[in-house]
Amino acid sequence: MSLRVVFLGPPGAGKGTQARTLAHDTGAAHVATGDMLRDAIAAATALGRQAKAYYDRGELVPDDLVTGMLRERLQQGDTTKGFILDGFPRTLAQAEALERLLKDLGQDLDRVIFYDVPEAELLRRLAARRQVERRADDTDEAIKNRLRVYAAQTAPLLDYYRNHSLLVSVPGVGTVEAIGEAVRRALGR
Ligand code: AMP
Repeated sequence: MSLRVVFLGPPGAGKGTQARTLAHDTGAAHVATGDMLRDAIAAATALGRQAKAYYDRGELVPDDLVTGMLRERLQQGDTTKGFILDGFPRTLAQAEALERLLKDLGQDLDRVIFYDVPEAELLRRLAARRQVERRADDTDEAIKNRLRVYAAQTAPLLDYYRNHSLLVSVPGVGTVEAIGEAVRRALGR
């Protein structure tokens, strides 16, 4: 049984942690566009060179670049048991592109899981993550930008997916295990 799911939520919501576990448990591919962009930037590919300045500022990389990257990714062989999209879509245009792409592939989304975390908690987590991860976009200014960008460009996707009857909200606070349990329940697993 395949699993096709989007993890939606602000930076610091814990989507990556949950996506890794769920991918491991189900065989679905963990598709994290942020990780893919970091790899492209590190390898200085054409895509990475175009994405770097946006990434470093905590801004969104242009839709056509990210959408093209995702189109290729979803056609790789490790997605036969499905995929967990972590960090995509982030704009309405990306959500619409995803809908077209899945239509082309003859696939449907099962669910969109929203990780609900209060802003004060996000700030605390992002500051803590900075001690361990050292990402180029973990400066104070870039963190503020990422939260602003989320509120302006990504939060509207909640209504979009609510209207498509795909959205399920999960409290993104508590232990990693308890959140994972809530996610599995939301997915009916
Ligand atoms: P993340 O690791 O998901 O927090 O993403 C880190 C950064 O990668 C973001 O701040 C953006 O600059 C870029 N990025 C990741 N996913 C996307 C996307 N779907 N659309 C545009 N930019 C993205």
